[in-house]
Amino acid sequence: MKKTSFFIAFLAIAALIIVTSCSENPSVSADEVQASNIKALSLIVDDDGNLAGDLTETEIASLQFMIEEEKVARDVYLEMDDLYELKVFANISSSEQRHMDAVLFLIDGYNVVNPASDLRGVFANEDLQTLYNTLVEQGNGGMEDALKVGALIEETDIVDLNNWLEKVENANVELVYASLLKGSTNHLRAFVRNLASLGITYEPQVLDTETYQDIIGK
Ligand code: ZN
Ligand code: ZN
Repeated sequence: MKKTSFFIAFLAIAALIIVTSCSENPSVSADEVQASNIKALSLIVDDDGNLAGDLTETEIASLQFMIEEEKVARDVYLEMDDLYELKVFANISSSEQRHMDAVLFLIDGYNVVNPASDLRGVFANEDLQTLYNTLVEQGNGGMEDALKVGALIEETDIVDLNNWLEKVENANVELVYASLLKGSTNHLRAFVRNLASLGITYEPQVLDTETYQDIIGK
């Protein structure tokens, strides 16, 4: 077994923002981008600098699902941002872009086929396509409906990430999913806060009451 190097600089999403902007700078080489991505996400690499370990079929399927689920979130929020004057949709859609980038980093690093289309609102996974269509339609109903759609997306994301975290074993996949999960709980709180400022108490639609209260209480 190859000796692995551990990067235990636990930098948060903020670090990823810096990395994302670096990757747009042509003076930064691909290798440097790779190195900073690995560091920002605290990923584990082998002696050759490649992402450590192999992926099971389940882990591959999870990456292909999650990149599109993060895209559902991003694309719905972009639609809502076009409709409503609420900063939360613009802010969180760019956060979802970073979530997609993190999953894409694993997809590329492990040579997995990326199913995600470059087109907004287009999905390879039929269930996610249906979900996207339904959510956009619901969100068209007004600001309150749009914020509830946001909270529902984050609840769904939290449930799915928790389910995958029980099934995956690759440490890098676990690290990225844990980071996405943290992002989703922050996003859920943001949507619930925005609803509260409209005088609406959000009731969880997917999470059980205890898990929901645990997240919101923080
Ligand atoms: Zn996300
Ligand atoms: Zn989110």
